[in-house]
Amino acid sequence: MKLVTIIGARPQFIKAAALSREIAKHDKVEEIIVHTGQHFDANMSDIFFEQMDIPKPHYNLNINGLGHGAMTGQMLEKIERVLIKENPDWVVVYGDTNSTIAGALAATKLHKKVAHIEAGLRSFNMKMPEEVNRILTDRISNILFCPTDTAVKNLINEGYGNMDCKVMNSGDIMLDAALFYSKKEQKPNIDLPNEFILATIHRAENTDDLDRLHLIFDALNEISKQIPIILPLHPRTKKIVQQLNVNLINLTIIDPVGYLEMVYMLNRCNLVMTDSGGLQKEAFFFKKPCITLRDETEWVELVESGFNKVVGADTTKIIDAFKFQNNDMNFNVNLYGNGNTAEIILGELQKNN
Ligand code: UDP
Repeated sequence: MKLVTIIGARPQFIKAAALSREIAKHDKVEEIIVHTGQHFDANMSDIFFEQMDIPKPHYNLNINGLGHGAMTGQMLEKIERVLIKENPDWVVVYGDTNSTIAGALAATKLHKKVAHIEAGLRSFNMKMPEEVNRILTDRISNILFCPTDTAVKNLINEGYGNMDCKVMNSGDIMLDAALFYSKKEQKPNIDLPNEFILATIHRAENTDDLDRLHLIFDALNEISKQIPIILPLHPRTKKIVQQLNVNLINLTIIDPVGYLEMVYMLNRCNLVMTDSGGLQKEAFFFKKPCITLRDETEWVELVESGFNKVVGADTTKIIDAFKFQNNDMNFNVNLYGNGNTAEIILGELQKNN
């Protein structure tokens, strides 16, 4: 069986690492990795391949720094060429980026089977480019590997029960990665306090909106009077933050780090504050409460179970969520499978080949 895997962004490298590790156990499965180039900085791309032992991409399309249309269009064109040449049995796409929709669309037009990993997630906010990418990718995929029961329900509500595709809850492949790489954690090259909040901010709805960013940083600044905050931040966002003219108190901004440094900090932090999708779940995997700096989340089961508070960019709500956090949570519930999602997915692809 031959797979072409399309990846281009940080969270996709992490998920692909888990599947590639599983593929390596099977002689009869060949994986061709296509890196679209969406994330290309050394600390957003190369470091993941090195640290996580992801096989070197067979193709690097080097498409980045463009608007959505140009980026997706160029990917579509170049991925099509790769698929014609490689003639795979399956095209595997992850998540909700432009690389995801470009890979799925190129494949489906060539009548290649598409497997969508992390299918069925919905924020119900069509202004998010990710939401558009997810919905369109789901519709043209042949197997939809959902990470949660909620994701399966979303698809059933949209009529997927009557469509010519397979929908299943495979568990979340990020749990596979978290369990495996947590054992390989690496201390980041900074002085890490004994107690701290691990924060990330990267989503366009926050970084492209100075008002929202200001409200978030006002809250972080206030909270950092009580506990230090470590914030890995893309240099582009760091520049925007500098324009805000806020006087950062106990808030340390560092460059983005590799996954092994991230799991080191996840293992030790008191709390996570983030607008990232992946990090909301990782907070749960590492048994830490999470405050989500978005107006909605796809990971509703974390909110329903009380592990995650969604507070948007509202300064008071962020500070209140911090003040009233429950430090006595029981994280021993199974929301995302058993950490064997890669095995389940590969088995299913072989069965349906
Ligand atoms: N991450 C990382 N280094 C960082 C920040 C995040 O390795 O400096 C990891 C994080 O642990 C998670 C993933 O990147 O696994 C999340 O990626 P991102 O926030 O870019 O995307 P999203 O999850 O929102 O799709």
